[in-house]
Formats: sequence, C-alpha cells, structure tokens
Amino acid sequence: MMTDPSSTPVVRSRLPATGTTIFSVMSALAAQHGAVNLGQGFPDYPIDPSLVDLVTAAMRAGHNQYPLMAGVPALREAIARKVERLYGRGYDPEHEVTVTTGATQAIFTTIGALTHPGDEVIVFEPAYDSYVPAVRLAGAIPVLLPLGFPGYRIDWDAVRAAVTPRTRLIVVNSPNNPGTSVLGADDLDALAALTRGTDILVLSDEVYEHMTYDGCPHRSLAGHGELAPRSVVVGSFGKTFHATGWKVGYALAPPTLTAEIRRVHQFTVFTVNAPMQHALAAFLREPAHYDDLPGFFARKRDLLRDALAGTPLELLPCAGSYFLLARYGRISDEPAAAFAQRLVREFGVATIPLSAFYQDGTDHRVIRFCFAKRDETLREAARRLQRLGRGPAPAGTG
Ligand code: PMP
Repeated sequence: MMTDPSSTPVVRSRLPATGTTIFSVMSALAAQHGAVNLGQGFPDYPIDPSLVDLVTAAMRAGHNQYPLMAGVPALREAIARKVERLYGRGYDPEHEVTVTTGATQAIFTTIGALTHPGDEVIVFEPAYDSYVPAVRLAGAIPVLLPLGFPGYRIDWDAVRAAVTPRTRLIVVNSPNNPGTSVLGADDLDALAALTRGTDILVLSDEVYEHMTYDGCPHRSLAGHGELAPRSVVVGSFGKTFHATGWKVGYALAPPTLTAEIRRVHQFTVFTVNAPMQHALAAFLREPAHYDDLPGFFARKRDLLRDALAGTPLELLPCAGSYFLLARYGRISDEPAAAFAQRLVREFGVATIPLSAFYQDGTDHRVIRFCFAKRDETLREAARRLQRLGRGPAPAGTG
C-alpha cells in the first residue's frame, strides 16, 4: 500500500535543540567498548538489603494502590523530621512536603507551576541538564550565567546585574553537579540580600546534600531563615540511598508555593509508587543510614584521586557531590567531547565532558568522573588510565 507523504503530520518540536543526552551517548559507547563506566551518576554497588526487604514487606502489607496525591503521610513526616534534625527548620508534612517521582519531576513541576511565559529564570552553568528544557517548556526564558572557572562558584555581582523586573526564579544547586562546589554561608547571605523585598523565588536542588567533604557543611536553604520562605528545596532518595532507579524525591516549600506545585503535580504524575514510599519512611527512622554517607563517599573520592595521581590529569578540588573533575590540557588540546570519546575507545573508561553542561558548549577542557562506584571499579578505571599521555592501551585490555 502506498503511503501518502502528505498524510504524515508535521510536528514542530517544543525542544528543537535537544538531542539524546550525553549520559545516554556515553553509556551506550561504554557498553559498546566494554569500558568502565564512570560517566553517568549512578552507583554500581547494591543498595542496603533491608531497604529491599522493606519494599517487599510494604507490598505484602497491601500498599499497592494509589497513595495520597502529596505522598504517603509517614514518608512526608519522616522527611520533615529529617530536615528539622539536620537543618533546624520544621516543615509541615501536610502543607509543605510533596513526594515526587525523583528530583527531576520536582524540578520540572516547580518550574512549570511557578513561572509564566516570558518570566526570566536564572540558571548557572555548567548546569544539570534538566533545568533549561523545563524552563523552555514553561515558556519562560533561561538567563544563563557562568560559574567561575575553575572553582565553579557564583559571581554575585554578575547575578545582581542579571536581575530584571521579569526575574521570577533563581535555580541553585549545592553541592553542585557537575561543578563539585558547595555554597557557603556568604553565598546564602548574598542570595538573601539580592532577593530581599522582591518576588523572586529560589529553586534549590540539593540532591547531593549528604556528599560534602573535608569538614565543609551542606547549607540547605531550608535552614536559612530568610531564604526558606521563598524557596523550593528539592531532594532525592535515589542519590541518598544509592537507588537512582527508584525515582523518589521530594519538594519542600511554604504552603502557598506547595499549593501551586501540587496543582501541577496532580496532573503530571498524581502520585508516586506506594511500596517504595512506605519502605523509605521506615528506613529514614535510622539516622545512621544518612549520617554515614559523607565518610563513605569521602573514602571513594580519595581512592579515585590517589589512584589517578600518577597520571597527567590535573584533578580539581572536590568539596561536594560524587563527582571528580579533571583537566587534561597536559595530554591533549582536543575538545572535551572528542577527548571523552577517545578515552572510551582507546583506554576503556567512560567519563562525561563538562562542555555538555553548557547550552553553548563552553569548553574548558574538563571531564567528569563519577566515584559512586565499587572500589574495584574505581581502581580498574585508574589502572586503565595509567597509560594516559603514553598512547592507547594495547589491544585486548579494553
Ligand atoms: N539534580 C541533579 C543536580 C542531579 O545530578 C540529578 C541526577 N543526576 C537530579 C537532580 C535528578 O535526580 P532524580 O534521579 O531523583 O530525578
């Protein structure tokens, strides 16, 4: 049967500049070449078996139907208790805590709920890749500001200069992916001063809250008396409990903001899977499950850093997140995307080029390693990279 070409509907993309994410590209390339994958940010070790048992128990107890739209009450209460214990602010589980399908949905829903077409949203680059598409889909305008290089810190004078009467939202991410920097008390005070007396809201992506090192504390916006009332604070159990495939996160916000977020939430996902919510509520009762995380990840960061010390890579300081950044200018002047692809093909190690986190592809010749991996995986990646600067690995070693 002939198909009439004119019958094919024409679709005008809402995100014409968006292709396959760099994470999928690098993971596919890693699989193709049998590479050690330190690219995409997910652990390759198992989650706590008791968490798995709690999910099974929740299913057996009959928690298999739609839970409440805002989240299982026990989980909202557990989140509120944890946030109060860590950051000193008591959120009301009924009106200020919403469970979401991962942090990504919390971010997407917040931007969709709180911005209008034509509003400006300040986003710092390099940026986690979901922010800008979410802003564009909302019809709002991303205002992109670079973090300083190589420290990846916010230039508050530049932010002040970028604020206009149309600025509606500022997105901050600390600990920062991919910059690995952490906001200090002075940063939070600068943000508070800048937004004081305005209607500007803040979206604070804190999915790496338990990954700060060398005595550097995580300063949640939830714990800042002036910022919390204008902020949506986003967290992710995928990151915290090594279960990125579970996709359970949350948004904390004052009642007026939460009401708007829930208006959108109820028509995007409506609810988040019930057994996992019950399991997480029970698991959160034991603070050691998250109190021990900074030490756990600091050891992995140090292991990778020490193992790469003999290579010509220039490692940047890492104050937070589970990523380690490296400059490779001593080895090559290739663009980061080409260098990262060559590392997979010739050395069998997958990383992410930092240029992928900039809309305009700004390239400081930096790659990102994820160290949320088994110690053997980190050692093997470093072993393969010992030949860096001395030519590709001999055939057969991947
Ligand atoms: N924010 C940042 C900064 C992230 O790195 C990630 C995951 N890579 C997310 C949000 C998304 O978290 P989730 O998997 O819970 O949607």
